[in-house]
Amino acid sequence: MSKTLIVKDVVKYYGDFKAIDDVSLTINPGEFFTLLGPSGCGKTTLLRMIAGFNSIEDGTISFDDLVINDIPAHKRNIGMVFQNYAIFPHLSVFDNVAYGLKARKVPKDEIKRRVDEVLEMVKMSEYAARSPQQLSGGQQQRVALARAIVIQPAVLLMDEPLSNLDAKLRVEMRTVIKKIQNQLGITTVYVTHDQQEALAISDRIAVMNKGVIQQIGSPQEIYMNPENTFVAGFIGITNFMKASVSGNSVKIGRIYDLKAKTAETFDGESIISVRPEQIKFTEPSGGAADAEIGFSTFLGDFINYEVKLPWDQTVQVNEYIKDSHIIRQPGEKVGISFEEDRVRLFTPDGGKEIKIC
Ligand code: ATP
Repeated sequence: MSKTLIVKDVVKYYGDFKAIDDVSLTINPGEFFTLLGPSGCGKTTLLRMIAGFNSIEDGTISFDDLVINDIPAHKRNIGMVFQNYAIFPHLSVFDNVAYGLKARKVPKDEIKRRVDEVLEMVKMSEYAARSPQQLSGGQQQRVALARAIVIQPAVLLMDEPLSNLDAKLRVEMRTVIKKIQNQLGITTVYVTHDQQEALAISDRIAVMNKGVIQQIGSPQEIYMNPENTFVAGFIGITNFMKASVSGNSVKIGRIYDLKAKTAETFDGESIISVRPEQIKFTEPSGGAADAEIGFSTFLGDFINYEVKLPWDQTVQVNEYIKDSHIIRQPGEKVGISFEEDRVRLFTPDGGKEIKIC
């Protein structure tokens, strides 16, 4: 049975260092939830607190109504998959997967049935008799996944399970993991620093920085509606530009007037975040307000341009081949416009969004 995982006001110290700073989140039954953030932000620390390998200095972690703070790791009914596979080298694939069931004294014939079933699920049935040394990295990680799910855990925890695999296999394995998780409906917490992987695999993502959750949302929400400059900069590529707000009017770089207005009046400097695909080229006006094409990179379905704006800032602009059919040359003058319903405006410290409409 899938559980709701509730993390409430949780704090973790290593000595004087606060690694997890008052984190709260609720993960729904069967949800694929990802902790995403740069190295050292506290993802693994929080995952290990859920697993029972780290102490919890303050707050509670619960599975449904059961507070698990004082329940030892081996009694939390958790399945874990790590970056380094952590499968036993001296046991066959079958025995690796059977290990947790034997420890739980499950009858022999049921062990056989359940191990066969999950090996089938991860497409490793034909390797059941092999030893781990005879497997590729991707196959070893399938065994690790089988071993974690065979015990029918309340919660599945995965810590960077794909980071030892090459790029192509990573993409293949993330689909395998997502499909199996979906099929079983296990509440899952997944740790990664790879934003693309997080976008591809998750139902919801918590973006973390310095032990603090910056934003929780679906991949689309996090990408389209980042709530601060950290999230806007960490997820995908964006251009930050200085903008000034006067009343409800926004001017970028002292030249470009946005047609959109701020929802509430504000006076002062702000930061605008505009993704490369949210800047469009227009006909040049022939005046000082024109931008200039710089370096270009052909990337198949789109071209990435470095574009020098009229207020002496260079930004990245993506233009899709299907929209243009031409490659613009360095030095070419272009007009620019912004997809104003999609750009994001933030307070000068980057901490909060200023709504525009
Ligand atoms: P990575 O992606 O590099 O694994 P992470 O987000 O998982 O990073 P954590 O491993 O949770 O980060 O570490 C969070 C912070 O806590 C880091 O600053 C780290 O140096 C510190 N830290 C982690 N484990 C310990 C420990 N056992 N003792 C002291 N400090 C620690």
